[in-house]
Amino acid sequence: MMKKKLISDVNQNRWVERSLTAVWHPCTQMKHHETFPLIAITHGKGPWLYDENGNALLDCISSWWTNLFGHANPRINQAICKQLEKIEHVMLAGFTHPPVIELSEKLAALTKGHLGHAFYASDGASAVEIALKMSHHYWQLNHQPNKKKFVCLENGYHGETLGALAVTDVAIFREAYGSLLQEVFTVGSPDARKAKLGETAEDVAIQAAQELEKLFQKEQQNIAALIIEPLVQCAGQMAMHSPEYLRQVRILCDRYNIHLIADEIAVGCGRTGQFFACEHAGIWPDFMTLSKGISGGYLPLSICLTTEKIYRAFYSDQTQQGFLHSHSYTGNPLACAAALACLEIFESETILEKNQIQAQTLKHAFAWAKTDDRIEHVRQQGMILAFDVNNQFLRNPALFPREMFSASLGEGILIRPIGNTIYVMPPYILTDPQTIQMGKSVQRALNQVLA
Ligand SMILES: *Cc1c(COP(=O)(O)O)cnc(C)c1O
Repeated sequence: MMKKKLISDVNQNRWVERSLTAVWHPCTQMKHHETFPLIAITHGKGPWLYDENGNALLDCISSWWTNLFGHANPRINQAICKQLEKIEHVMLAGFTHPPVIELSEKLAALTKGHLGHAFYASDGASAVEIALKMSHHYWQLNHQPNKKKFVCLENGYHGETLGALAVTDVAIFREAYGSLLQEVFTVGSPDARKAKLGETAEDVAIQAAQELEKLFQKEQQNIAALIIEPLVQCAGQMAMHSPEYLRQVRILCDRYNIHLIADEIAVGCGRTGQFFACEHAGIWPDFMTLSKGISGGYLPLSICLTTEKIYRAFYSDQTQQGFLHSHSYTGNPLACAAALACLEIFESETILEKNQIQAQTLKHAFAWAKTDDRIEHVRQQGMILAFDVNNQFLRNPALFPREMFSASLGEGILIRPIGNTIYVMPPYILTDPQTIQMGKSVQRALNQVLA
């Protein structure tokens, strides 16, 4: 791998300088870029990203968790080009088109018919808004208008629009906007790291479910839905929990007549080892949100899947009893064509089976972390591996993610730590040698930062 200067003075296009002038970057304190590199990516191939100077970076986080089968994937490229020759956009009110129909049917089949109705949007947060609105509206239609509060988990993340942010428990995203957000109930996370000596992840899950039941007992008349990220709270530092929690919340939601929203935006599409994370527990939610990986990281697409029961409640002669929500790019044909190509790759290349093996390679690649006494809570769920760096080894915890990011660039890899948590969430196409190389590069970068 090449290790050149990251920001070249000789570059004629001055991409970085121009970007810092004209582009307001997301999730970024722009002033940090005075000292912290911004990288202009000009092309990609497979798991590699190339910057303007031709430096190669191994993408260990799947382009913000979206890219499953590599950049410039020939099959997905071809599917989009083919669709592009037919039609690029169809409004989905009053019109329909083959890719959105086929995708909806395939998703219904993947949920074994449990979630047979697909409502589309473009980004993840919008799919969450849809689930929240549908649940709220359902209870009104069922003459229980008091059931309008949402329950969410400590450390959960569901997006940053106002509805989604209200059910998100990540302080740094919420702080400035608290007064704009509806009130919610927040219950303890089943995060397995909470296990005390002698306790298992399952024990933690059961305790968290007991806490949830207490709230349900007291407030069931006022609660519309519980929203969770099944198995891994990704933005919340890759906190993982036992599938027992999913079984428990399904039972409790049924017992107390509360909707279960499974936000599979990050954990869906094979990331955890099953196509849907809920399948690890053998449960189905009332609403499931999908985005990120569903289009292979190609185009903005999100979906809220729901049941026949919910769908029926809105079916009426009254216009206002319908679900009157829309986005201009809802169910875009190009995005649906990309998603269909991804589902075909899953099938024809038996991706779920291959991921089982790849997850083992991933485990071996990070075996060093298990014996490194600066590291705790090494954890893995399918194609996500994470660990925490013990805070006592960090000179400046606030600076650590950026230092680690910069050091990893020097090693030719792209990672983006969250707080003191380092994780990898690579595309499924990584070869064994690339996976091993990723493990070694993370170790070298960490040694450098902690030196
Ligand atoms: C990323 C994410 C979202 C938000 O999706 P956007 O496309 O960024 O709006 C919602 N929920 C979860 C679990 C996510 O990881």
